Amino acid sequence: MSSLVFDYTVTDRFLRYVTIDTQSDPDSATTPSTEKHKDLGRLWVAELLEIGLSDAELDAHGYVYATLPANCDKSVPVICFCSHMDTSPECPGAGVKPQIVRNYRGGDIALPGDPSHVIRAAEHPALRSQIGNDIVTADGTTLLGADNKAGLAEIVDAVRFLKQNPQIRHGTIKILFTPDEEIGRGVDKVDLERLGADFAYTIDGEAAGNVEDETFSADGAVLTIQGVSAHPGFAKGRMENAVKIAARIVELLPKDTCSPETTEGREGFLHPLSVDAELDRATLKFIIRDFTESGLKDKAALLETIVKDALRDFPKSSYRLEVTPQYRNMKQVLDRHPRLIENAMEAVRRAGLKPVRASIRGGTDGSRLSYMGLPCPNIFAGEHAFHSRLEWVSVQDMQAAVRTIVHLAMIWEEHA
Ligand SMILES: [Zn+2]
Repeated sequence: MSSLVFDYTVTDRFLRYVTIDTQSDPDSATTPSTEKHKDLGRLWVAELLEIGLSDAELDAHGYVYATLPANCDKSVPVICFCSHMDTSPECPGAGVKPQIVRNYRGGDIALPGDPSHVIRAAEHPALRSQIGNDIVTADGTTLLGADNKAGLAEIVDAVRFLKQNPQIRHGTIKILFTPDEEIGRGVDKVDLERLGADFAYTIDGEAAGNVEDETFSADGAVLTIQGVSAHPGFAKGRMENAVKIAARIVELLPKDTCSPETTEGREGFLHPLSVDAELDRATLKFIIRDFTESGLKDKAALLETIVKDALRDFPKSSYRLEVTPQYRNMKQVLDRHPRLIENAMEAVRRAGLKPVRASIRGGTDGSRLSYMGLPCPNIFAGEHAFHSRLEWVSVQDMQAAVRTIVHLAMIWEEHA
């Protein structure tokens, strides 16, 4: 289908980016949560300026903005490509030493820095489709950071390719790199007016070919139990121990269903995150996840039923349950803009892959952007086993993502 001849810089860029630590910090109140985000931000601005994106800029909050101007006369919607620069605080992220396993022949992949960590083929079925490819991993002491530096390298390489091949027609392309996605604050300080895009795509998905238009809908819940304290020597018939009430509630939660460890696909869950209990008072924190609004409501109602059940034997104790929305399934917004997904699927096809429409058991910057007025599905970046020492990405999948981004820019122009 395509006669484009690609030359890639994506792997070199990726290897450069992962060595710069950009781990986010959930306990920090600032944006970006760690100043070191900006080390990488400055590198991108330099690279984007070198490519010829003359307005590339890192702002005070750690966001990188840049524009690839249109090179056609048509009125094409302004498309933004977006990735996040931070890495997960769940796994060490400093001192990443990437290795490339060339021409992967199948089997387990040993990590040279720590023999106790092995990427086992049996536990990573996605490796089966990577025979003959070049696999990039960390050395076993850190995460790799393919989530989401693969996406960043792919976007930079794609705009570099477009800039160097002006015969390829496209509308205005915007670039947005965000901090602190991994701690849920990736779009807190984004300036959408400055960005000026009509639609966006995050490049932060897993398997090559995936186009994701659904995320979880998410609520947080805080349950406070007020027990009745008394001197333990004289407590008979009086004391109602909030520690025991909290334990009873956790015990009554569903086990075979409705839990992260027993669900997959389109099933949601009700998940206790923490219990902070004393005799007098206990606070339990939950997250609630489902793909539908009614599923979310049902799970909150189930929690309340369980609490009432648990309190039946503690008549003088009381509870307060506060449920707060966190983010919503972006599909409700994206369904109003079918072109967004159709164009992405077509771009994947032209890039030589089989497009797969998928949903995400989590949130993305895109789920929040979609509700802020910038509809934003997610496209694969090729990252696997993210947030772990076993994280990996293949060179060929990163190159496929570059092709997908380039074709996507062309398709929006063709259809305009
Ligand atoms: Zn990510």
